[in-house]
Amino acid sequence: MMDKNVLWNLEKRVERTIKALQNNNMEAYYVSDEDELKNKLCELIKEDSTVSVGGSMTLFEAGIIEFLRSGKYKFLDRYEEGLTPEQVKNIYRQTFFADTYLSSSNAITEQGEIYNIDGNGNRVAAMIYGPDQVIIIVGVNKIVKDLKEGEERLERIASPINAKRLNKNTPCAKIGYCMDCNSEDRICCDYVVMKRQRTKGRIKVIIVGKELGY
Ligand code: SF4
Repeated sequence: MMDKNVLWNLEKRVERTIKALQNNNMEAYYVSDEDELKNKLCELIKEDSTVSVGGSMTLFEAGIIEFLRSGKYKFLDRYEEGLTPEQVKNIYRQTFFADTYLSSSNAITEQGEIYNIDGNGNRVAAMIYGPDQVIIIVGVNKIVKDLKEGEERLERIASPINAKRLNKNTPCAKIGYCMDCNSEDRICCDYVVMKRQRTKGRIKVIIVGKELGY
């Protein structure tokens, strides 16, 4: 059980972030756990519509990949076993026509910005343009004060952990922080800040009241 003053502080940060996202023409919601998250997704995603996902540990940890495999949706499952690289590439391209795209984010700022670094670019590309609806699911651990703090979070936490997880031959996977490397294996290529959404409501951010992903 979280200390009530710590919880109060966290709630204030979530409130500020939700307000700022709304000011930037995005919808934003808070849910306390995975069950509430799934209920929210049932509300937001039409049955039988096409759904695709961006690479994300959060979606696995929150049980969302399993949820999408339930048969309720036409799920473009990039994680299906046995897919060839060609088939995965095909799914990345089909994703631009999906009704809904689900992804997490590397950071969300209290100024209402969504900040991501991609290696391949397919995730940020679909977040920016293509799917009619983009739902971004983040744990409270992804909230940062501003872009500067977001950058630090990426350099000191998210990218080194991802490089380690993916077994990359990069300096960060050895020493635990970013060296802005020139490595062949570099996973940080596209640095994308989404400051505002032109189509009102296209982007919906769901903040879950727990730590998810990194
Ligand atoms: S730029 Fe290189 S060292 Fe820095 S986090 Fe990315 S992969 Fe690691």
